[in-house]
Amino acid sequence: MTMVRHILWRSAAIAFVSAAMLFPGAVAHAGSIAERIAGKILLQVERHGEAWYVEPSTLERYHLGRPKDAFAIMSGFGIGIASAELDAYLAGTFPARLSGRILLDVERSGEAYYVSPDDLRGAYLGRPKDALRIMTDYGLGITDADLAQIPRVLGYSEEGRTIAGYDIGSGGYCVLLIAGIHGGKEPGGKGMMDRFVDDLFSGTETVHPDKRALVIPLANPDGYFGRDDKLNANGVNLNRNFRTSEWVTGDADTTTYAGEAPFTERESRVIRDIAATCADGVMVSFHARGNFVNPENSERSTALARWYAENSGYEYYEGWYYHGTATRWFEETVGGPAITVEMTDYTAHDWEMNRDPLRALVTDTLVF
Ligand SMILES: [Zn+2]
Repeated sequence: MTMVRHILWRSAAIAFVSAAMLFPGAVAHAGSIAERIAGKILLQVERHGEAWYVEPSTLERYHLGRPKDAFAIMSGFGIGIASAELDAYLAGTFPARLSGRILLDVERSGEAYYVSPDDLRGAYLGRPKDALRIMTDYGLGITDADLAQIPRVLGYSEEGRTIAGYDIGSGGYCVLLIAGIHGGKEPGGKGMMDRFVDDLFSGTETVHPDKRALVIPLANPDGYFGRDDKLNANGVNLNRNFRTSEWVTGDADTTTYAGEAPFTERESRVIRDIAATCADGVMVSFHARGNFVNPENSERSTALARWYAENSGYEYYEGWYYHGTATRWFEETVGGPAITVEMTDYTAHDWEMNRDPLRALVTDTLVF
């Protein structure tokens, strides 16, 4: 393992020189960076050369881990191609539309090739050691700050859509921001979160060194893309599916159905697993509609909700305390304060209202 890391890191240090040319200036839009590194393998030079693959169509990044994991993950992205077509490309270069993709020769026992975006040549991906060679030969060094601008795939929805998030900064105090858990019914939260990360990446202020911002703009993509109610693809209200005190399953075929048991749904497990990496911090969960901020059941949560209400202009409201919610689970399990923000309308972004408190939570020393 040490050897592998050493090789990766040394390679990363060499490739790193060119990273500066990729990210000129302080103002960099998240989208533009990702487009320039579509299909590339990135090596995190400040973290022992941890490797990531940027999937070219979604521009989301996947953690490659060790060579064996990297091989399995990259092979999983394989697209079938006919032998004759593959042979023709391998003799020269691949077309630009296949840049950064992994191709599988479906007629010849599934041989896999990675098409390097650098030169459009095919690199053989047959065994784990080939994945290591590809990472070493083609990996591009990237700083933590630049990598943070590329959404990271945290897991998948029940229908297999990616659930991506931004993981920014390396401090111990998490600021966990979640929107879109009631996907189809409440689409506005995603727009506001996207705006927030764009603002963060284009501004001069960044995440405070003691903090780590975890932003999940769309926790329920199946609902967002496929339904107009609050549920996921299985008809479960994800904001009842977290393991909390007083948990009950609820009535199936209603909008408050919590699932057969806590964490039956992939979407709630994705949030649980990323939140579980936080030892302390806050959770702000965005919903609609209500024009108010509601705390979980503690003094810290109350303080956070009152502060958020004052700084956003939303009303402060104490009347809710539901089982199975992400916020109640966070408060009971991680131990930090948690609030629900009910935005002014289902499709509203409420950017002006949320901008200042969100910036302060992430960039200031302020903690609750
Ligand atoms: Zn909601």
